[in-house]
Amino acid sequence: MSDVRNVIIIGSGPAGYTAALYTARASLKPLVFEGAVTAGGALMNTTEVENFPGFRDGIVGPELMDNMRAQAERFGAELVPDDVVAVDLTGEIKTVTDTAGTVHKARAVIVATGSQHRKLGLPNEDALSGRGVSWCATCDGFFFKDQDIAVIGGGDTAMEEATFLSRFAKSVTVVHRRDTLRASKAMQERAFADPKISFIWDSEVAEVQGDQKLSGLKLRNVKTGELSDLAVTGLFIAIGHDPRTELFKGQLELDEEGYLKVEAPSTRTNITGVFGAGDVVDHTYRQAITAAGTGCAAALDAERFLAALT
Ligand code: FAD
Repeated sequence: MSDVRNVIIIGSGPAGYTAALYTARASLKPLVFEGAVTAGGALMNTTEVENFPGFRDGIVGPELMDNMRAQAERFGAELVPDDVVAVDLTGEIKTVTDTAGTVHKARAVIVATGSQHRKLGLPNEDALSGRGVSWCATCDGFFFKDQDIAVIGGGDTAMEEATFLSRFAKSVTVVHRRDTLRASKAMQERAFADPKISFIWDSEVAEVQGDQKLSGLKLRNVKTGELSDLAVTGLFIAIGHDPRTELFKGQLELDEEGYLKVEAPSTRTNITGVFGAGDVVDHTYRQAITAAGTGCAAALDAERFLAALT
């Protein structure tokens, strides 16, 4: 079947572009669906990336992603700025449908659709992203040395972020909408024992304030409705992530939080010829370099799978 591709890649973050680079260099002529509005992935919404190896002085997110894109294209990856709206991954030949209704066929599919961090849903939140508002302490904590920071959330991630940030920050205030934490006991104890971390219970963010930079938060007590001000220059939102796996439900095996399951350390999913990489699989590390790493692994797994077919 001449119209059957070797491999289709869904997603264009560090995982998708790295898989594209490797499969293109292996002469597999990958077709990459980049997404209609968010080509380049999560790093398109950030400013300085200081922890991607190889860039001594750091690099801005969109430039890093442009470089990855161009590098994949240089070796023949075919990049399409469109969404995949349907898939049938069950047969030997997999089909992927784009927004125009065109059906594309391939022997192997790499899923690298990433995950979406949950937002508070407040005006100003996006505008101040990278200007005091962040979703990743590992990525941005370093920029907040000696500053007053708020962490929103009450789960393990929020406690981990708060504990990590207290190394740099002047103070860390955890704002949680309940009066108890969801985080594991060990994580809670570590946070409670940290002299730099304090807690504001039963409260949610009512307003994210600031013009060019975050200047503070307006908090609302969910029990009394009382409003209060919290002067902070850093806001870390740690209320969870949603992996983009809607499209694959009923076909690919997902865990209880909706992340794609793979046979680690490989990137093989429950369906032969389908591989998963990046944040759509990973709820532990969630870094550009780890996404790129598993993107590479998925490409190599796909390459070996295809070689065994011939
Ligand atoms: P993503 O980057 O999320 O890319 C997924 C792609 O899939 C998107 O382009 C999307 O459009 C596409 N897609 C989804 N569904 C479809 C579909 N149906 N059809 C077609 N395409 C689809 N990490 C660091 O290491 N350092 C940092 O400094 C850093 N800063 C960050 C700052 C911010 C604000 C955020 C949000 C994250 C940051 N991260 C950082 C984390 C990093 O961005 C992610 O870990 C990484 O981008 C994950 O890569 P990925 O390829 O798995 O997914």
